[in-house]
Amino acid sequence: MTETVGVLALQGDFREHIFILRSIGADAIEVRTPADLAKVSRLVIPGGESTVIDKLSRIFEVAEPIKQRIKEGMPVYGTCAGLIMLASEIGGAMDGQQNFGGMDVTVERNAFGAQLESFETDLDFKGIEDAPVKAVFIRAPIVSRVGDKVEVLSSLPNGDVVAVRQNNLLGTSFHPEISGDSRVHEYFLNM
Ligand code: GLN
Repeated sequence: MTETVGVLALQGDFREHIFILRSIGADAIEVRTPADLAKVSRLVIPGGESTVIDKLSRIFEVAEPIKQRIKEGMPVYGTCAGLIMLASEIGGAMDGQQNFGGMDVTVERNAFGAQLESFETDLDFKGIEDAPVKAVFIRAPIVSRVGDKVEVLSSLPNGDVVAVRQNNLLGTSFHPEISGDSRVHEYFLNM
């Protein structure tokens, strides 16, 4: 049986993730409900707006089942707002903002400020050695604290951490699904 990869499709750029996952041969489906979640063995949480993904995931009653699956070891990849959804601590959170958690990191929302809201760069990425990864940052968070069990996979030249992994969980501040570089998704599918 081929495995099915879910993309949380409540808000944000879930279509781009579905597209890139299918381009590398994955069976990718949109996840909005607990019944959808039950069909998948992996989950991608897209970029978008973490406060909205938080609220909708609670309204659609997928937040608790996702937390449970994370605890059970399901591989999950969060990009940008998706990374914020996985962090144990959020700097600059809205009042009452919740998330799934699971990764022992602190992220700072909108860390690049108004001057440098969005940019594109090439990054070295541990585990993807053939060439730098093309990374698009859009009102991105940075990882300001990394727990003992968390591996840093990529940083900006100034040292800001932008890609992390803790066992079954992968998070990037940037959006490889937008630059069309499928290697981070391939890395995820091999986790
Ligand atoms: N700034 C957004 C947030 O806090 C994330 C932006 C993005 O996902 N591109 O959710």
